[in-house]
Amino acid sequence: MKAVVIGGGVVGVTTAYYLAKSGHEVTVVERESEVATVASAGNAGLIAPSHSFGWASPTAPMELLRSLTVEDTALRVNPFKAPGMAAWGIKFLRECTADRARKNTLVKLRLAQYSQRKLNEIAETENIDYDDIHAGLLYLYRDPKRMEAGVEKWKLIRDHGQPQQILTPDDVAEVEPALAPVRHKLAGAIYGPTDSSGDSVKFTRGLRAVCERMGTTFVFGAGVKKLIAQGGRIQALATEAGETIGGDVFVLSAGVHSPQIARTVGVRLPIAPAKGYSATFPVKNGGDAVPRIGAVDEELLVAWCRMGDHLRMTSSAEFTGYETTYRDRDFRIIRKLAESLLPQAADYDRGTYRACNRPMTPDGPPILGIARHDNLYINSGHGHMGFTMACGTSRIVADLIDGRKTEIPVEGMTLTSRP
Ligand SMILES: Cc1cc2nc3c(=O)[nH]c(=O)nc-3n(C[C@H](O)[C@H](O)[C@H](O)COP(=O)(O)OP(=O)(O)OC[C@H]3O[C@@H](n4cnc5c(N)ncnc54)[C@H](O)[C@@H]3O)c2cc1C
Repeated sequence: MKAVVIGGGVVGVTTAYYLAKSGHEVTVVERESEVATVASAGNAGLIAPSHSFGWASPTAPMELLRSLTVEDTALRVNPFKAPGMAAWGIKFLRECTADRARKNTLVKLRLAQYSQRKLNEIAETENIDYDDIHAGLLYLYRDPKRMEAGVEKWKLIRDHGQPQQILTPDDVAEVEPALAPVRHKLAGAIYGPTDSSGDSVKFTRGLRAVCERMGTTFVFGAGVKKLIAQGGRIQALATEAGETIGGDVFVLSAGVHSPQIARTVGVRLPIAPAKGYSATFPVKNGGDAVPRIGAVDEELLVAWCRMGDHLRMTSSAEFTGYETTYRDRDFRIIRKLAESLLPQAADYDRGTYRACNRPMTPDGPPILGIARHDNLYINSGHGHMGFTMACGTSRIVADLIDGRKTEIPVEGMTLTSRP
């Protein structure tokens, strides 16, 4: 079969990989000049099934409301910059009950656990080095009350098969020597010993080379303008330059831009952009001062991990439309984290900066499978966990295309199996 994948982020390239492995003739159509240059280039690199909690939770509406008046909230909305988000916002609010939040978290957890296994399998089979570290991740708390609430919240994940340890500040210092000098600032941490981290750009580009060896064609600099449908099937896509590319099956994995493309054939995808900031610094040759493993500060919601000789730090989630501009002050939360917990880890004067959008669904899990046309598959909406979930969702979509039984149930991941 001739398969056309739209989008060359980590999701598109992993899709291409599984389709090529199944023996299909695969073409990836990508607007940019290389794979993994958009969201897949800016993420924190955490492969974190332990962090599968849905963003839509009973506390989220209050936090979003607070962001209208308070400057430093991690989750922010600007209704003037994101005017088209009303329908998405209503769906999001509907998911903010305790019951829905629990169900959505468990769907994401099942997917993330599966996907991490697939990622490890691909990296091993194809011999891809992506600066991966398999020594767990830390979720840090500074306030004892929040830590207590955190332990209660994280029980759900632990009760569903995700290994977890509760650490005192001294334990944290042992697991992560870089935090030993600041242990007095911590109330403790949850440690996910099987979580991991790595560089999603290195992984995706390594996998692109594997795909090319299997015969996959990458068409770069080609923005998809629309899909062309006839008789309930997609016949071709048309690029902004006026070219058409035909195929037997199409997979839409264009991240935050998937809804725009889907709309050209009457399909509505509830995926909205949530902007985040990403900074990368060269590590100092400081031995123990450089973090050994990745972590999230659960108070500032800054995530970080070491990627080779660099330290990646990310922050914030702003519902402010599609733009990806940034100002120096947008990195103040990252700077605050660096100063307070990791002052000696990196050369903070030599950072490279970017902003990018997470493709968020209102409930949390990505959208997989067909929508309306029987040869248009969606693999999009991976939100804050796209590196973690990409390999799993791509294997699932390839299985659906080939009519194979998926290795895990897809309940809660397809459009029709959502409540
Ligand atoms: C700040 C931040 C931190 C994050 N941290 C983590 C983390 O620690 N762990 C984790 O698992 N996830 C994390 N994520 C999420 C993760 O990065 C994303 O979910 C993931 O990269 C989404 O991959 P994608 O392939 O769907 O999208 P993208 O990487 O955005 O790829 C989509 C591709 O489609 C292309 N495209 C778009 N429109 C068109 C068009 N019309 N025609 C042709 N091509 C098109 C784009 O150019 C792009 O290359 C983070 C995200 C952000 C923003």
